[in-house]
Amino acid sequence: MPTEYEKYLTKRIRTYMWGSDTPPPIAMNHLTRPQNVGGRNILDLKAQNEAISIMKLKKLLDYSGDCPTASDTAIAIIMAAIPKSLQEKNHKDNSISNIFLQTIYMKNRYTSRALPNEIRKTLNIGAKYNLHLDVPKLSLEHKIKLPAWHHIGRTPGARHREYNSHARCLRTQHKVETISDLIIQEQILEDLTHNIENITRCECHNCKKYRKEGCTHPNACFNKASQILNDIAPKFNPQEDDHLLSEEITKDDRAVTIKNAIGPPEKIKIFNPDTTTKGSIHENLQIFTNPTKCKLETVRQDPKTQNPPDITAYTNGSCDQNSDKNAKASLGVWFSTNNPNNIGAPIGKNIIQSNNMAELLAIHSVLILTPSKARLHIKTDSAWAIKALCENIRSHTDNDFINISHANLLKPIVNKLRKRARQTSFEWVKGHARITGNEKADHLAAEGAQKTNPQKVIFFTSPKHNYMGAILAALSQRDAYKLILRSTTQKTKE
Ligand SMILES: [Zn+2]
Ligand SMILES: [Zn+2]
Repeated sequence: MPTEYEKYLTKRIRTYMWGSDTPPPIAMNHLTRPQNVGGRNILDLKAQNEAISIMKLKKLLDYSGDCPTASDTAIAIIMAAIPKSLQEKNHKDNSISNIFLQTIYMKNRYTSRALPNEIRKTLNIGAKYNLHLDVPKLSLEHKIKLPAWHHIGRTPGARHREYNSHARCLRTQHKVETISDLIIQEQILEDLTHNIENITRCECHNCKKYRKEGCTHPNACFNKASQILNDIAPKFNPQEDDHLLSEEITKDDRAVTIKNAIGPPEKIKIFNPDTTTKGSIHENLQIFTNPTKCKLETVRQDPKTQNPPDITAYTNGSCDQNSDKNAKASLGVWFSTNNPNNIGAPIGKNIIQSNNMAELLAIHSVLILTPSKARLHIKTDSAWAIKALCENIRSHTDNDFINISHANLLKPIVNKLRKRARQTSFEWVKGHARITGNEKADHLAAEGAQKTNPQKVIFFTSPKHNYMGAILAALSQRDAYKLILRSTTQKTKE
């Protein structure tokens, strides 16, 4: 929708709301908020149009089989319109191969007249809401596919090294485009036929090949490739060994969990801590990220130790007059008889008093009390909590918890679960069915309800083990709209 229409229609809405053309007594962005927070749920046209642009961006980045042909054309137009100032004067330059995965994308606003209006708008919307690859853990396959130049994981201060004559030679004569190309160049240094004693006269296959292409100093270029690889921050660096440590749940882990079951094994869910990127690299791009919180270090689980102990915990949340104004919620955690870690306590006054909140808080308490190196088996009668943590967590993460009412507690719990060295399993047990642990936890929660808790509960969510923003490939227009409204209210608050 052209901007002038957007302005015109917004003005009409305002006039309708207030019955006159005078400036409204309440700012429009308050009226666009939902009714339960004091707004009037009015459609924010600007946000709606931006959400539509985000959907176009999503199509543009759809590299799957059913990607519209128009996207290919759009990409070609974008590549042709890249400002000459960003490229080498040499025509053979290929430093910009995939702008969405290179730093030049985020830093630029697109104003080129060579770009059609729609494409310009689509590009700018991604730049405005920080389209970025800021996942906790990149797979090796994705690390080596990233463009070698304008690298998004380049350590600060190392940028200038891409601009000397050797780097330029790597781009033009050695045709280096991706990280895997750089690795191939670096490996030549290890080649036995490559003569490092007499580098200027080396007659090895590779030196001959690149001299023929016009390179006058092949050995220096190979060294340069190695240096550029060293400048890549740990999270993006293929030489880091983090991809060797699998976070997937092993057969043995499953076997132990089943051994600890008190009921049929199909009632058990094991939390999946794996955050490694999957699918095509573009499917992992996020939007609404926070560029000031981007992480360059790699995310790791706590180190695994031999012979981990097994710990079982029964959790229970209860709420008197659930969903009532006078609701009072409490939690119960039972490890074993006379265990000093057993808890029966009311939940903090600053948290919503509800059953589900108490269930989550009980799980949160168990995670704080249990060493990460132990295999943890949580038994609860809350099917809701198990579903939220083990089944729906991926979709919650994908849209940045925009539709979730318990995000403030789910996020720190998921953080802790992802960080644990050993597996955490959840088993649903029937409530009030004379299962000892469940009854004990129930009892503790009832006791807790009688106590008073003047303390406020504070949660800490480390940005590590966390995704930033929403996954663009999974985003719906409706959720994009909500995320735009959220980011504008956040900005107004700042
Ligand atoms: Zn050589
Ligand atoms: Zn060279």
